[in-house]
Amino acid sequence: MTTAHILGFPRIGARRELKAALESYWRGDSDAAALHSAARELRRRHWQQQRDAGLDVVTVGDFAFYDHLHNVTALIGAAPQRYGFEHGVDLDAYFAMARGTDTQPALAMKKWFDTNYHYLVPELDAATRFTLNRDWLFPEVREALALGHRVKVVLTGPLTWLWLASAAPGVDKLALLSLLLNVYWALLAELKALGVAWVQLDEPILALDLPEAWQQALSTAYRELGSAGPQLLLASYFGSVAEHAPRLRALPIDGLHLDLVRAPEQLAAFLDDWPADKCLSLGVVDGRNLWRSDLNRTLSSLHRAHRVLGDRLWISASCSLLHVPTDLQLETTLDPRLRNWMAFAVQKLDELALLKRALRDGEAAVWRELHAAAAAVEDRRHAPSTQVRAVRERVAALTADDARRATPFTRRRAAQQARLQLPPLPTTTIGSFPQTAEIRAARAAYRAGRLGASDYREAMQAEIRRAVRCQEALGLDVLVHGEAERNDMVEYFGEQLDGYAFTQHGWVQSYGSRCVKPPVIYGDVSRPRPMTVEWSRYAQSLTDKPMKGMLSGPLTMLFWSFVRDDLPKREVALQLALALRDEVADLEAAGIAVIQIDEPTIREGLPLRRDAWPAYLDWAVQAFRITSSGVRDATQIHTHMCYSEFNDILPAIAALDADVITIETSRSRMQLLDAFAEFRYPNDIGPGLYDIHSPRVPAADEMRALLDRALAVVPAERLWINPDCGLKTRGWAETEAALTRMVDTARAARSAL
Ligand code: GLN
Ligand code: ZN
Repeated sequence: MTTAHILGFPRIGARRELKAALESYWRGDSDAAALHSAARELRRRHWQQQRDAGLDVVTVGDFAFYDHLHNVTALIGAAPQRYGFEHGVDLDAYFAMARGTDTQPALAMKKWFDTNYHYLVPELDAATRFTLNRDWLFPEVREALALGHRVKVVLTGPLTWLWLASAAPGVDKLALLSLLLNVYWALLAELKALGVAWVQLDEPILALDLPEAWQQALSTAYRELGSAGPQLLLASYFGSVAEHAPRLRALPIDGLHLDLVRAPEQLAAFLDDWPADKCLSLGVVDGRNLWRSDLNRTLSSLHRAHRVLGDRLWISASCSLLHVPTDLQLETTLDPRLRNWMAFAVQKLDELALLKRALRDGEAAVWRELHAAAAAVEDRRHAPSTQVRAVRERVAALTADDARRATPFTRRRAAQQARLQLPPLPTTTIGSFPQTAEIRAARAAYRAGRLGASDYREAMQAEIRRAVRCQEALGLDVLVHGEAERNDMVEYFGEQLDGYAFTQHGWVQSYGSRCVKPPVIYGDVSRPRPMTVEWSRYAQSLTDKPMKGMLSGPLTMLFWSFVRDDLPKREVALQLALALRDEVADLEAAGIAVIQIDEPTIREGLPLRRDAWPAYLDWAVQAFRITSSGVRDATQIHTHMCYSEFNDILPAIAALDADVITIETSRSRMQLLDAFAEFRYPNDIGPGLYDIHSPRVPAADEMRALLDRALAVVPAERLWINPDCGLKTRGWAETEAALTRMVDTARAARSAL
């Protein structure tokens, strides 16, 4: 009989119960007992949901108070020395590493592969040793067994844990492997003794470009762990592992999980000569998106695997359901038609159970459910909103000229300079000004219908006046309107575009107690009317200085949303690009001479494998350029990017051909700028002169030193002066103080030129 299971379930709770419990504990409003009891209740509920749906095992070990990788760090006793913990990691030590202490910063956070989930980076140093800490994981396993469940334990595997860790200088990660394997071996043996039959070890690094030494280490590790006791399911996801097929086949593991949503073609590399003593778990339900599966198509693709594998066929979601919202049942205000196209984690359990029943009892036995699923898929396929003729035709008619400014940068630059008359080392900001409690209150009141449209407009205009007055007093050169009307970079635009929908409870964990609620791109995207023009026009009417219009770029709109799966991402990006291009044109027509298109996510979209980078960068650059290229020479296009790891994609950044790029550099003390200089980045550049993540106002000589560093590598005539990012999280007092200093620094440097 086919086994149905999942790799993991969202831990935050359908109503974000874990968030509430954590934040209450951190505030000191509740004690550890209350936190543990909230956690137990969530686990109990999630296991029961798996069982009620009809899955064959419940997955235990996917719960975490902050992050599942951090749980492994606690379980194997790998706290970095710098925290000085004397006895293993208890609950408060766990949070101390996650959130920092008075004397020690928190562990670094990084994005989990190509998702928006962040893990806590383990730290390895010369003193790193491992000891099994049974206060973690074991209580949860006993809990599940006591509830009478068939338990499969899940843990991040040793190779992936080690790969993701950061190593102090001189520490060779692989040299730590044998110590690490000792503790994993002991752990597995004890789980077996507890009565756990299956352990799933996640090794998502298999989907990366894995160096030979690590591939060999994988064999070493699993040859050892294979004898520890429980049956082992090695789980890969987020990409194909076909190239490792011979190696994986030879390992003494009992099963392998493949992500067939991301890489359906890899099944061919495994199915035919898969050893008779091993199962194959096929991830056929999308764990990264919220669309209902095309179950009939899935079933027809499973039939052959079912024939070949028989009882050794397992079915699952492609990866952990951590990356999708919990329960569609709570969405009571979503358009019912759209809602019928979706499946959140709970609904995906039902899909898996249904697939299992169809394989076991035959499709006729479940024809009613299969029919309903097929009808939903058909309805979506033919819905007018998912195929808007005018949008499709416009994308199809795009030419190379649409993605190219009419003249090269140097000519445009002269035209812009003649129009804008900016001084050398011009000063500007990145867009947002402090989002005060009053601003938030006004937006909330407007949404709730407690504030009328004209009162709301007046409130926002008052904020614009305040921001403009402040910038004029400071003597900034290119002003912004301050973005008071924006709750968020994507939602603000998504709400005004056709093809976007918003859920009420579609929360997904980002890190710790933080969740995001990505909008949903369900249909063809177009812009029914201008989105920002009125605000920018009003702001420009208040000043003689140039007012910079402010937009989120097509890639950011794409990557921070759940995207439809029935159209290539590239197509969706081009639709977004055309909608935003119209906004750029309208801003220009309204007399806005400088327009910034924020693209903080271009790096986020990079595929996991390098060989797929060029194709992605090609359409990413094209989408940006379609947005930005419809303007006259004298209109200046800016772009802005934060997270600073784009040294390796500088050619693509340059290919965006923005007239000015502003980047986050102050925390790295302008290091990133060296890469731009070395690459001979051709256009204007504004390296951030101060960090906006803290209220601290840097000393004048600190800013001056950074500016001098920038001047040493970028010619003065191509350098701009600005903060690292938007100021929305800052207060007014520190904002004015820091900007005063920034403008003074620019003036002093100008007179020395
Ligand atoms: N214009 C946006 C702001 O200033 C940019 C935000 C970002 O880069 N993340 O808030
Ligand atoms: Zn930024």
